[in-house]
Amino acid sequence: MLRIALQKSGRLSDASLKLIKECGISFTNGTGKLKTVADNFPAEFLFLRDDDIPRYVADGVADVGIVGENVVVEDRSAVTIAQKLGFSKCRLSIAIPRGESYQGIESLQGRHIATSYPNILGDFLKKNNIKATIHEISGSVEIAPSIGLADAICDIVSTGSTLMSNGLQEVEVVFHSQAVLIQTPTLSNEKQKLLQKLLFRIEAVQNARNNKYILLNAPNEVIPKITEILPGMKSPTILPLAMEGWSSLHSVIQEDQFWEIIEQLKAAGAEGILVVPIEKMIY
Ligand code: ATP
Ligand code: ZN
Repeated sequence: MLRIALQKSGRLSDASLKLIKECGISFTNGTGKLKTVADNFPAEFLFLRDDDIPRYVADGVADVGIVGENVVVEDRSAVTIAQKLGFSKCRLSIAIPRGESYQGIESLQGRHIATSYPNILGDFLKKNNIKATIHEISGSVEIAPSIGLADAICDIVSTGSTLMSNGLQEVEVVFHSQAVLIQTPTLSNEKQKLLQKLLFRIEAVQNARNNKYILLNAPNEVIPKITEILPGMKSPTILPLAMEGWSSLHSVIQEDQFWEIIEQLKAAGAEGILVVPIEKMIY
């Protein structure tokens, strides 16, 4: 049985559970339970504080876990990142009081910086030849400058609204983070196989999220042009319409090219374009 550690409650929990569900793995979780077994996959889930997940996985108490890359890198535990998961994206940034002058990273020379991420910040400062004093604090980092504890902070930012409301401005991005699936360095062959099975499903879910199914109608003479715009997984499906001289084309497009492709299709003579989500996608 593969033991999977998930955050009990917090910014990773909902998206982690959604991913597990989309991988077709279900379980009944009595609220507040710390452990539960999946109904239809040889897996057991442990619900933990996110900060504890790298250590549980490094120690082999859990085989894999879902956690923020920021926590994994800061923790320096002996785990490997098996897959980046693309959710809970945020950045670790340095911020200073708003209105204070900043002439680039040299302005941090000799300053005091409060953070819960002393390792990541320390590496960043070293790489940039900045000598600053790091004050490690575990929470409410954003109030450190206003109470005179530090000149600057280094903390997680997603929209910047917390910085804003504390009178701070972001001046350097130190690290980009997202949720990752980590694994213990030594997995038995049997567990390795289960992990591969899980990774295969995660990949199918991620591919589906990044792609859309597209259907459109077009006069037969523009089919070659449209086939060029819509390569799809192999090539588009072409079906004749009841109306003489017209066809329906079906294909797959990438989410990030969506608007550009739609414009090209319209310009080429496509009509009645439908775009629908894909649930799972295997190449
Ligand atoms: P726990 O109670 O489990 O210790 P926590 O309060 O330490 O939780 P959360 O705030 O739930 O942690 O954040 C968990 C992870 O989610 C962070 O380590 C980071 O990777 C990511 N994260 C943090 N803030 C944001 C945000 N504003 N937007 C998106 N992701 C975020
Ligand atoms: Zn935490």
